[in-house]
Amino acid sequence: MFVQNLGAMPAHNGHPGGIAVIALPAQTQSAHYLGNAVLITGPLSAPVAIVGIGLDVSPGITELTTNRGAIPFEIKPKTYLTEHITITQTEKVNPPARDYDRIIRERDEMSAVFKSFSNQRPDLAFVLPVIGRLSSPFGKKRIFNGQPRNPHSGLDIAAPEGTPVLAASGGEVRATGDYFFNGKTILIDHGRGLITLYCHLSDIAVTNGQLVEAGQHIGAVGQTGRVTGPHLHFSVNLNQTRVDPALLLEIDD
Ligand SMILES: [Zn+2]
Repeated sequence: MFVQNLGAMPAHNGHPGGIAVIALPAQTQSAHYLGNAVLITGPLSAPVAIVGIGLDVSPGITELTTNRGAIPFEIKPKTYLTEHITITQTEKVNPPARDYDRIIRERDEMSAVFKSFSNQRPDLAFVLPVIGRLSSPFGKKRIFNGQPRNPHSGLDIAAPEGTPVLAASGGEVRATGDYFFNGKTILIDHGRGLITLYCHLSDIAVTNGQLVEAGQHIGAVGQTGRVTGPHLHFSVNLNQTRVDPALLLEIDD
């Protein structure tokens, strides 16, 4: 299987882990979902909300709040697979106490970026971040050494170490670092709450604050952090919610 680029607007996927694409009344300029600001795109005469739905959201009728009133929409159920993973470096499953401060600091650093909401309008025509094989889909429930963990928050693309990693869309590099779980990591803010994350890299070729274009070389595939082999873990964040990156890419098998 290979991943290819798709068009400019994702399809409506109103399920947990999905992206709801909701037509809004003309002149809608702000929308919130579960208290978080939502990406609005399209012309002011026909605006469209691009809403990230969390994996933990229950199916049913919910709503956006907007400056033009409440907009109801439906979340339909979706089942994700379960994966059992054995990790021999057990300290990466249950980190030693000496690493707790570092882990919390890194988590806070990343979540501060996820909370960003600039007025820049993002380009949703994503570039494939790496050429490779889909090795693990978004949303899989994961059990590490028999212990349930959070479901998979991104998409894994396996490729040889050193394979170039490209920015999925234009934006500003908002964080780089060598994190405990994610290894060498880049976060790019594309605007209006759309943030992409690239991790387990062997090399980082950009610096914090740098502006990048879609398709620009930003680093290389590696196996830093908590991994079982070289791959890119790519995650997409909308309104502070991790969504399935495959919804912005064309999966061709
Ligand atoms: Zn992953």
